[in-house]
Amino acid sequence: MSDGGSGASPLRVLGVYAHPDDEIFCAGGALAKYVAAGAEAMVVSATRGQAGQIRSAQIATRHSLGQVREQELHLGCQHLGVQHSLCLDYADGTLQDLDPAILIAHITEIIRRFRPDIVLTFGPDGGYGHPDHMTISAVTTAACKRSGDPTQFPDQLSAGLAPHQPAQLYHSLFPRRHLSLLDRLVAWLTQSGKRFYGTTDFAGALLLLAEEATLLGYTSDHIDVAWYPAGFYIIEQGEAAVNLYLLLSGIVEIVREQPDGTLETIERKAAGEFFGEEELAERHARQAHAVAIENVTCLVFSPNTPTSFIGRGQDARITGEAESDGESTINQIRFQAPTVIDVSAHIQQKVAAIAAHASQFPLKQDMLPLSILQELMGREFFVRVLPAPAKAEITTDFLPAPHPQGRRDAGATGVADETPALHAAPASEERGTRRTMPLGWVLNNY
Ligand SMILES: [Zn+2]
Repeated sequence: MSDGGSGASPLRVLGVYAHPDDEIFCAGGALAKYVAAGAEAMVVSATRGQAGQIRSAQIATRHSLGQVREQELHLGCQHLGVQHSLCLDYADGTLQDLDPAILIAHITEIIRRFRPDIVLTFGPDGGYGHPDHMTISAVTTAACKRSGDPTQFPDQLSAGLAPHQPAQLYHSLFPRRHLSLLDRLVAWLTQSGKRFYGTTDFAGALLLLAEEATLLGYTSDHIDVAWYPAGFYIIEQGEAAVNLYLLLSGIVEIVREQPDGTLETIERKAAGEFFGEEELAERHARQAHAVAIENVTCLVFSPNTPTSFIGRGQDARITGEAESDGESTINQIRFQAPTVIDVSAHIQQKVAAIAAHASQFPLKQDMLPLSILQELMGREFFVRVLPAPAKAEITTDFLPAPHPQGRRDAGATGVADETPALHAAPASEERGTRRTMPLGWVLNNY
C-alpha cells in the first residue's frame, strides 16, 4: 500500500465494501471519475465473496471462487483506475456475526494508514438489505467517527500510526427509479431498423444485468424466465401489450386470427430473437397471437411484478400495466439531499470493471447500446453522513471540507475560488461546476 508519496497530495478516496463487485455498483463511476482527475483511491472488500453464486463454470469452482473473486476485484479496480485494492479475510456472509469491534478496529487501522479525505460505503440499508452490506456500513461509519480520536485503539498508535479523521463520509443511495429497461429495449429494437438476433450468451448476460439493475433500483422492470409447453398461446391477439419477450429456446409462430377464426402464420421466431416489441412501441393492442410451436423458454420483461389474476384476451380488465408512482421517487430524493455524481463519461470503464467480475457477470461490454447503459448507470447517488449537510440540497460533487494550504494543488486548473477542495473535480467540469443543482436537474434523468 502506498502512503501517497511526497509533494503535492492528491485527494484520497477510500471505498469500504463487503464483497468484490460491490464497489462498482456503489461507486465505480465516481471512483473512475475522481481518479481520472488526479485522486488516489483505494477499495477494500471485507470478504472474498466466496459465498457468492458461480455464474460461469469455466471460471470458478466452489473451492476456487474466493481466490477468483479476489483477482476479479483487483482487475476491476484496474479498469476503474483505482490504484489500491485490498481483500480482507473475513468469511462471506458472516460479518454480522462477528464482534463489531474487530471490524471497526481493522477499518480504523486502514483509515489511519491510507489517510483518506473521503470514505465511501453502503448506507444502513445495505442497498437491498444484504446483512454483510448493512454490517460494513455500520462498522465503517463507526470507524470514521473514531479514527481521528487518539484515545481509540491506542495499540495502533504505539505501532506508529497517527490518528486520522476523514473529512467526509458518504453512504451509497439507491433510490428506487422508475426507469423502464423494457421501454429502452423496445426503442432500441424498433428504431435500429434491422432485426436483432442475440446469442444465448447475450440472453444470459442480459438476464443478469437486468436482475442486478432491478435489485439495486436502477430499473423498475420485473424480469422472469418463463417456460411454455408446445401449443401455448404466449401472446393472444387483441390483448393489451404489456410484456417484451426474448426467445431463449424453441420456436414461436406469430399467427394472425381473422374474424371468422381462420389463422394465418406471419412469421417464425427462433432462439435469440425478441418478440412483442412492435405493439409496445406503437402502444396498441396485440395484432397477432404468439404461439409456442415446441416447448419454449423466454426471458420476459414486464413493467412491474405481474399478478396471478391478470386477464387475457381483448376484454381483459386487469392487464398489469405499470402505474406511475414517480412522486414517491421524487420524495425519496428530495428528503435525502443526495450527492448525485454524473459518471456518464466513465460508463465504459464501469462496464469493463463489471465484466472483469466474470464469475458474477459473464457479459460482453458491447452487448447493449451505450445510451441504455448511460441511462441505467450514468448517475451515482450518495448521502453525505459526515459532516451532515447543513440544508436539504442536491450536490453534484464530493466536496471535502477545506484542506490546510498545500493540499489544494494537485492538478486542477481554473477551479472556482469558492470551491477550494475541488482540485479533484474532473477536467470537463472544472469550469462552471455548480455545487448544488435544482431538483429538476436530477429528475430530468429519470
Ligand atoms: Zn455485496
